[in-house]
Order: sequence, then C-alpha cells, then structure tokens
Amino acid sequence: MAEELHDGFGRGISYLRIAVTDKCNFRCVYCMPPEGVPPRAHDELLTAEEIARFVRIVAAEGVRRVRLTGGEPLVSHRIVPLIREIRAIPEIEDISLTTNGALLPRLAPALKDAGLDRVNISLDTLDPVQFHEITRLGRLEQTLAGIDAALAYGFDPVKVNCVVVRRLAQDAFGLAKLSLDRPVHVRFIEYMPIGDEETGTTRALDVSELADAAVGEPAVTNPHCPGGVDASAWDASDTVPSEELRARISRAGEDAGIGALEPLAANDGPSGAGPAAYWRFPDAAGTVGFISAMSNHFCSACNRMRLTADGAIRPCLFSDAEYRVRETLRAGSDAAVAAIWRDAVAHKPQEHQMIEGTERFMSQIGG
Ligand code: SAM
Ligand code: SF4
Repeated sequence: MAEELHDGFGRGISYLRIAVTDKCNFRCVYCMPPEGVPPRAHDELLTAEEIARFVRIVAAEGVRRVRLTGGEPLVSHRIVPLIREIRAIPEIEDISLTTNGALLPRLAPALKDAGLDRVNISLDTLDPVQFHEITRLGRLEQTLAGIDAALAYGFDPVKVNCVVVRRLAQDAFGLAKLSLDRPVHVRFIEYMPIGDEETGTTRALDVSELADAAVGEPAVTNPHCPGGVDASAWDASDTVPSEELRARISRAGEDAGIGALEPLAANDGPSGAGPAAYWRFPDAAGTVGFISAMSNHFCSACNRMRLTADGAIRPCLFSDAEYRVRETLRAGSDAAVAAIWRDAVAHKPQEHQMIEGTERFMSQIGG
C-alpha cells in the first residue's frame, strides 16, 4: 500500500474532507446568508463518479480517511452510492460524515449498509425556538431524532458539534450534559471567520484580539439574524475561547453536583480525535471536547486536505489557495490528477499565522 505523502513541512497527509454539495436544508446564521449560497450550474459540481475516482487516485497517494461534508451531505441523492463506492477502495480505512442530522432518521439504515463508519451531528442549542432561529429552517426534534438514529444504528463514535456564539448565549452546559447518560462526544468549536465577504482574504486578526473582544460590546447588528449574527460579518467578540467555555461548563458541573470536567489522556478520546482536546464529567457515558481553531492553532499536526463541491483542492481551510482538478477529472489521466494533488500537498501552508477570513462560505469549502 502507498506510503502517505508528506507536505513541505514534514506532515503526513492522510485525511480528505469532501464537500459533497454546497446546498443545505438549513441556513445557520453563522454559516450561510438567509437566501443560501448562490446556486451553481449542474455541470460545475463534481458527480459521485468523479468524487469516487478522485478518492481512488488520492488513496494511492496515501489518503486513508475520508469525511463527507458540505453543505448538507444528506440532501445529495448521490450520498449512499458514493459511500458504497468509497467503501470499495481497499486503502480507505475510515469513512465519516458531518451532518445537521435532520435526514438521518430516514437515511441511517442505508448509510450503515453502504459502509459509513461514523457521524458527527451539528447541534447548537437544546431550546426549540433558538434552534429554529439559528438554523432558520430546522426543527430541534429532527436533529435530536438524528442523534438517536445514529446511536441506534451503531455508528461509533457519535460526535455532536456545537458552535457557541457569544451573543446567542446558548446553554453550553445543557449541551455538555448530553454526554452524561449517552455515549456521545459533545465538541465545542470556536466560531470562525468563514464567509467574511466584507473583509475577504485580507482580514488579519491576531488571536490576542479574541481575549480583548470577549469583554467588548458586540458591534454588528443585522435585522435578518437573531442577535445580529451574520455569516458575512463575523465579529471577534462572538468567538468564545475554548478555555473560557470549558471553565464555565466545568463550574456549572460543580454547582449542579455533577462534578468538574476531568481531562482525558490524549489516547482516551474517541477515535478520529483530530484537533479536539477531550474532557469528561465524573462517571459520564460520553465526553466533552473543545476545538480551539481560533485561540490555539493546531497547524503543526494538520494532516487534512479538502475537496470542494465544484472540484478544487484546498490545502488549508483559512487560505483561499485552491488547485482546480475538475477539468482534469473530466478529461485527464489518473496520473494528471495525482500530479495536481501532489502539487497541492507540496504547497500546504505551514500555518495560518494570522487568521484570515475566506471568500467562500463554510458550506462551500466543506467544514
Ligand atoms: N451541514 C453539515 C453540518 O452542519 O454538520 C456539514 C457542513 S457544516 C459547514 C460543518 C460544520 O461546520 C458544522 O459543525 C458547523 O457547525 C460548522 N461551522 C459552520 N460555519 C462555521 C463557523 N463560521 N465557525 C465555526 N464552525 C462553523
Ligand atoms: Fe447547513 Fe451545516 Fe451550514 Fe448549518 S452549518 S447551514 S446545517 S451546512
């Protein structure tokens, strides 16, 4: 089996995240504009066959794990056959999917049968009214049923992703408590400047700005979004640093008599741990994780590349450098596709030294 490729900084590249579609049945305020992302012509998007071919080619270059994301991957009618095709690639050891969960109760059996290993489900609040405000189109009970379906069909591990936005004042402790009696891993992701149209790639933010912003007044108001949160106008004051959130949740655990969060050793977290640091309430069935994309860079351990729905390889979430591969997938040889992949891997940036907004929304990159 092929050795993994190394980038210019010695990092082994074994993980590919694929945006299967940039469409979604939700419109989360921090991810998309209210009208959704601009529609693309059908032939601008990769077909399932093209995506599967790409995975076969990069598997021969050392990719071992694939995550299907979007947009919402479960709105794509190609998702089940795509998983089946990827499962048939011998080098691929792990297939995971990130979803808002709404379609999971219906699709979980077919996804399991096709060979999907595990799922991450996004859930930002347990308040039904706030859930609808944040997702604009979603209903809380759908996503909760999605988590139940994921557990019932034996996906393992099941992770729940929460983006906490300061001015939305979500009940993070309530979300963390989902891990008490179910084997779910609740992970808090710092709110990131994705889809920042106003500033594009030129926005440069020193992470120390987060700490200053935390005590400042929210600056942006937008009548279309709850509390003024807007995917096109990220504001530093809305990112809650992981350290602050963990301390808050831990203190709430103590006050409620559950106990403080206890750190887990690196190897005790759920599989596919990636950049999250994991903790656990005493005797809890699941864990609580924190992903500090903003306050604490984990670039030195980054092993991932991304494929966008319209066929571009992105070596870094925060950098707009892209390597177009769609045309070559349609008209070129496997060797030509592999050459573009190698070029993209070789040019993976060392780190996002200054945090930048990007020209695409998260759903277009594959978050
Ligand atoms: N639709 C699927 C879902 O929501 O899980 C998959 C795609 S979504 C873009 C992937 C993840 O990115 C979700 O967990 C979502 O909460 C997160 N996300 C989107 N916009 C974000 C932002 N500005 N900052 C941090 N996370 C974000
Ligand atoms: Fe859709 Fe996921 Fe973005 Fe929400 S976070 S709008 S569910 S792609």
